[in-house]
Amino acid sequence: MTRRQALDRARELMVAKNIESAALEAELLLRYILEIDRAQLYTDLDLELTPRQEKSYHRSIERRLQGEPSAYITGHREFFGIDFFVDENVLIPRPETELLVEQTIIRSKNYAAPLIADIGTGCGTVAISLALNLPDSRIDAVDISGAALAVAKLNCRKHNVQDRVRLLVGNMLGPLPEPADIIVANLPYVRSAELPRVNTIGFEPPLALDGGRDGLDAIRAFCFQLREKIKPSGCLLMEIGVGQKEAVTDLLAGIFPTGHIEVIPDLNGIDRVVGLSLSQ
Ligand code: GLN
Repeated sequence: MTRRQALDRARELMVAKNIESAALEAELLLRYILEIDRAQLYTDLDLELTPRQEKSYHRSIERRLQGEPSAYITGHREFFGIDFFVDENVLIPRPETELLVEQTIIRSKNYAAPLIADIGTGCGTVAISLALNLPDSRIDAVDISGAALAVAKLNCRKHNVQDRVRLLVGNMLGPLPEPADIIVANLPYVRSAELPRVNTIGFEPPLALDGGRDGLDAIRAFCFQLREKIKPSGCLLMEIGVGQKEAVTDLLAGIFPTGHIEVIPDLNGIDRVVGLSLSQ
């Protein structure tokens, strides 16, 4: 079977299972099996797979057809142009979270050598993307899951930022040894009743997604801890879900009556990032 035939067959099977971006996923999994990049794959689509490659590809497509996300099959996911290790102990980084990183980079220009805290770091995507783009920053990255932090540690080493990213296990802001200039958070915010609609459900850790009845359990608890751990001139950037803007901005305005609150929509027009600045 040639590369082209393998790709076509995999794509058809995935389309039949209503898997979005079937062509892209077929390609991603084949590149993973062949250990080659995109350009190498397309230089010669008529090249034959070895029987062993064919078998491995078949096996990974089977896993994908059973619903397992390709990021867990390959053990990798790209975020902010950076390659991250992932496994079933961490949430798979979402493209919309890149907005959180972009906004944090913009705000960081107001601080010299900022101390940033990333709450709910998971495999470390936000913390490490910030560390790589803000060479003068230091980052405290917190997660309640030790298993998630083990993955974050691998990613810190992979990207050589272990000297500037401190990994702390514990509940939200609790483990932070000192107040931060910038606090950034992507907490679980999916409403419990909507969890079955998340298409990676059954594979991703519910701990990273489940925000309780209205999706705001973790965000509320986090906001009430903020005052202690944010510097007087600090700012907050937090990811939220569909329809959560009012509740979250009201909550923050109640806690920080003089703070300046802003909401930034993602590329789909969904209010996705809430920003709070205490200095202006
Ligand atoms: N955006 C994710 C989803 O809808 C949720 C991530 C989160 O809860 N922080 O799948």
